[in-house]
Amino acid sequence: MADWDYVIVGGGSAGCVLAFQLSEDPTVKVLLLEAGPRDKSIWIDVPAGFTKLLNHKKFNWNFAMEAEEGMAGRRIPCPRGRTLGGSSSINGMLYVRGQPLDYDTWSQLGNREWSYDHVLPYFRRSERYEGPEHESRGRGGPLHVGDMKERHVLCDAFIDAAAASGYPRNPDYNSGKQEGFGYYQVTIKNGKRWSAARAFLDPVRGRANLKIETDALVSRVILEGKRAVGVAYSVGEQKREARVNREVILSCGAVQSPGVLEHSGIGQPDLLKRYGIEVQHELRGVGENYGDHFAPRMNWRVNRRITLNEQSRGLPLLREIARYYTGGGGILTWTAGVVFGFVRTRPGLESPDMQFHMAPASYDSAQKRMLEREPGMTVVIGQCRPDSRGSIHIKSPVPGAEPAIRPNFLSTQIDRDCTVAGMQIARKIMQQPAIAKYIAFENNPGDKVQSYDEWLDFARRSGQTTYHVCGTCKMGRDPWAVVDDRLRVHGIAGLRVIDASIMPTVPSGNTNAPTIMVAEKGADMIKQDAKAGLKAAA
Ligand SMILES: Cc1cc2nc3c(=O)[nH]c(=O)nc-3n(C[C@H](O)[C@H](O)[C@H](O)COP(=O)(O)OP(=O)(O)OC[C@H]3O[C@@H](n4cnc5c(N)ncnc54)[C@H](O)[C@@H]3O)c2cc1C
Repeated sequence: MADWDYVIVGGGSAGCVLAFQLSEDPTVKVLLLEAGPRDKSIWIDVPAGFTKLLNHKKFNWNFAMEAEEGMAGRRIPCPRGRTLGGSSSINGMLYVRGQPLDYDTWSQLGNREWSYDHVLPYFRRSERYEGPEHESRGRGGPLHVGDMKERHVLCDAFIDAAAASGYPRNPDYNSGKQEGFGYYQVTIKNGKRWSAARAFLDPVRGRANLKIETDALVSRVILEGKRAVGVAYSVGEQKREARVNREVILSCGAVQSPGVLEHSGIGQPDLLKRYGIEVQHELRGVGENYGDHFAPRMNWRVNRRITLNEQSRGLPLLREIARYYTGGGGILTWTAGVVFGFVRTRPGLESPDMQFHMAPASYDSAQKRMLEREPGMTVVIGQCRPDSRGSIHIKSPVPGAEPAIRPNFLSTQIDRDCTVAGMQIARKIMQQPAIAKYIAFENNPGDKVQSYDEWLDFARRSGQTTYHVCGTCKMGRDPWAVVDDRLRVHGIAGLRVIDASIMPTVPSGNTNAPTIMVAEKGADMIKQDAKAGLKAAA
């Protein structure tokens, strides 16, 4: 008998849900291994700490993408959480489920029981929504979701300007109808970040059958023939192994789950041999099908001192800190995007293909991530369901080292057209009187950019990711699929991948809520399969 029934590798959004669900049965022994440290930091707790965490040395892997011609040779930063809660401990806290179409597409691709109707109960189960009652919303789950409490004159003006342009207001974009504009819902409770660790791990830390090890980097899955029997990992200089009776579950996120498979000898034979790794199982889809939301950021100089830029320094900042610690809310409870917009960029579409994030603040450069001194506001432009696909593979024989992240952004015509159309729509909204009265001038890209090629060039030179990496161990039945529709690795028994990497297509919005849904559903599948196995053995 091994020490553990399940070993979960990676304590991020998915890993925390799995630990919560699988250790529910006290007779089942669960080990959660997380490469990063514990999640104790004021920068994690206070929502505005988001900007500090974007390149934090301790809590962030701080990867960068490979330089690509289509991105003007830039290495785009690719932050990933490296602590309990994973990326949900450093993310922007926006709660977005996507569209029913996303999941119906997964189902249409041959993945049984992944349609919107099938996944909706899992979105509901995970959340505790504080807003108005609605049949699609959950109220009993561990993940606190609330409406933004604060309002801002520029945000209101932006929503009014969108309405004047013919885009509706939408009080709940997570109810199944995404289209329109309004304030985001956020995973924040009483002014504090509600990461997956806070929601799903904190309530169950005391369970005797759950062990959580931090600073534990898993190097590979231990295979006996075509069965996973445990993992090899290191804590500092110490090498350790953990063996399982039932299953190993990889939840290292879409950037790193492919690498753990590759270091275990599962993947593309040529690539594995290049790094001296013995091929255990050929699976050519590992690390392929990388999808993400590419996003140019436009900003405007505001003609009065009402933006977060000025409020976040000097005396006003001290006032905000005092306000925060006396329970008064304020800008420290704000996060990256404040207002959403979901629009259709062309006639004939059934649902939105473009997501805007608007904030009454602006950054001096995407690299430095410091707020500008002068008043400014930003609109981030993100195509909902990009077609471009890249890849993520190891580029070194060292486990945990930075992988080669090749985004291949804007490589299809539809993605280029949609991105350009999105930027043009944002400029038009900003020309409406409701918001134009606050604008001194468009700072980025500025009026000089007018033609299609100029817009595209701006996007290629300045666009970033909105950090929604997914799809690198996709679910499906075609030769490029890595897991089946019960999230079991094709051809290997006792091994699943459960995290953002299994998503066959990119959801129409931010990926934390969809990842949590995937883990909720994956946990049920594990329990069902264990039950069926026991029955069969009896
Ligand atoms: C800066 C940023 C902002 C974002 N903003 C938003 C937002 O506002 N809203 C939203 O919905 N989504 C947002 N996202 C995306 C969202 O947070 C992620 O999609 C989601 O957290 C992914 O969950 P995951 O479980 O797949 O991976 P992660 O949460 O990244 O978890 C993976 C975990 O595995 C660990 N790990 C990796 N390799 C190993 C190993 N070999 N051994 C042991 N442990 C390992 C990592 O340290 C990490 O803790 C953001 C992401 C980032 C990075």
